[in-house]
Amino acid sequence: MNSLVTAYVTLICTSGVLNLYLGAYVFFRRHQYKSIAHIFMIYTASITIYCFAAAATLLSTSLEEIKFWTTILYIGMPASAPLGLMFIMHYLGIKITKKRFIALLIIPFISMIMVATNDFHHLHYRVYEIDPNLGAPFVLQEIGIWYMIHGIYTFASLFVAFLFVLLRWRETAKEYRPQLIALMFGQFVPMLTAFVYLLGLTPPGVDPVPMVLWVSSLLYVWSISSSRLFSIMPIAKDTIFNSINDGVIVLDDFNQMIEFNDASKEMFPKLNKSMFGMTFDQVWLEVTEGSPPLELEHAIASMEVQFVQNGIERIYQIRTSPLQHAHNRKGLLLIFTDITELKKLQLKLEHHAYYDELTQIYNRRAFFEKCEQVFLEAKQSATPFAVMLLDIDFFKNVNDTYGHDVGDQLLKHMVKVCQSQLSEEVLFARYGGEEFVLALKGSAAVASERIAERLRKHTEIQPLETAEGDISVTLSIGLAELVTDETLYQLLKKADKALYDAKRHGRNQVQCWGREPVILSEKG
Ligand code: GH3
Ligand code: MG
Ligand code: MG
Repeated sequence: MNSLVTAYVTLICTSGVLNLYLGAYVFFRRHQYKSIAHIFMIYTASITIYCFAAAATLLSTSLEEIKFWTTILYIGMPASAPLGLMFIMHYLGIKITKKRFIALLIIPFISMIMVATNDFHHLHYRVYEIDPNLGAPFVLQEIGIWYMIHGIYTFASLFVAFLFVLLRWRETAKEYRPQLIALMFGQFVPMLTAFVYLLGLTPPGVDPVPMVLWVSSLLYVWSISSSRLFSIMPIAKDTIFNSINDGVIVLDDFNQMIEFNDASKEMFPKLNKSMFGMTFDQVWLEVTEGSPPLELEHAIASMEVQFVQNGIERIYQIRTSPLQHAHNRKGLLLIFTDITELKKLQLKLEHHAYYDELTQIYNRRAFFEKCEQVFLEAKQSATPFAVMLLDIDFFKNVNDTYGHDVGDQLLKHMVKVCQSQLSEEVLFARYGGEEFVLALKGSAAVASERIAERLRKHTEIQPLETAEGDISVTLSIGLAELVTDETLYQLLKKADKALYDAKRHGRNQVQCWGREPVILSEKG
């Protein structure tokens, strides 16, 4: 065996061994890589067969032996290019269905049959014999029609795979580009070699492609181990990343954006891949049209931000999570959850819990919650404090005469009339049925009485206008002022007694607790 052949065989075997190693490497980690591992293993298997059979061909001494090993070689070689294409398609997220898988392997399968049966039809090799000048293992061959189809198909597979990677260049983050370069070179090297071989520029009688396949293999080994080809950007993870409803933005250790998912793009339509490498503050400024920066340095686990987007106010909850990624570098994960609807619902529920549905003023529960606080403050600061209870006179008659609906309207009307006479700070609530309660902080007894009198008077003189005519009602009001060290409950009890007096003494009047009941003269 001459030294040239030895060199060829060594190179080819190196490719074979590297591919075998790659296949085994992925095999033992196949659970981690999921379906892409299967395609990759078949791919490396095909190259391994190709390489070892090519080496065996070069070690052959007779035409029969060469033909035998060439047939074995054709089990692997024709399939390797389309398998490489499928591997790259899978890697880039293009779905490989079973049908596509089988369809892409039809021509390689026919090529294998053609070579095995070439002696009968000579469609693959028109001539295939030991080179008369160089001797075994070198062969003199003249290619047939099927060889051409097979060659074009192989070349096209390599080229299409190369193009797929190239087209992904622009939209791929800087971080992932070395992987793309590795993939492109992995495709480009055998493609170029095959091209040079087809032009007849390589030493005759020997297929140089398996000799350079170790370069592709090395690139893949490097990609897997250094850039974690399968673990950083596998399509499975990409799909999950893009299918979650929360917006996710990934920052590197310099707070520069390196990735975002589809959901965050929906939340911030201005988000763009060209912003990769920009600091998060810059990105935030652009996508939110000038919202104040988020203080990520002091980022607590979760925060809420509110800003107007396309004229609509949106509220996002932002959670941050530190990230340990490649080469022990630290990054930050920002997770955005749109809580606008949730907040709306929360406000609605709060409203339901605190407001009376009919009159839209505080209900009894809200009154007590708010009043306890005001009451305590007034007591501690010795500020005058009074409560009053209002009850509509003969309200049952309104319901009986005009119906419940009109009764409802009258309740709303009466509330509006009272509100128009009250300042915003006054706690005004529906105590129940047709009874209302008021808490006045800061007004002494006389002032409170004046307010009560005003409410009574305005209710009396402002009837509800209905289709059936004007309906007017009057109010009886009981007032009590905080004088001793008593509880809110005790104070309300006094107001209730005063209200009872007002009712007893003819209704449509204000009575103060602790004072002799009087029939007020200036009604009307
Ligand atoms: P008084 O002067 O003694 O207060 O007589 P009144 O008829 O106002 O008192 P009573 O307690 O006998 O009746 C109160 C009525 O208020 C009975 C109830 O049907 C009516 N009422 C309570 N809540 C509502 C409501 O939300 N809508 C309507 N339309 N009526 C209500
Ligand atoms: Mg009443
Ligand atoms: Mg009542």
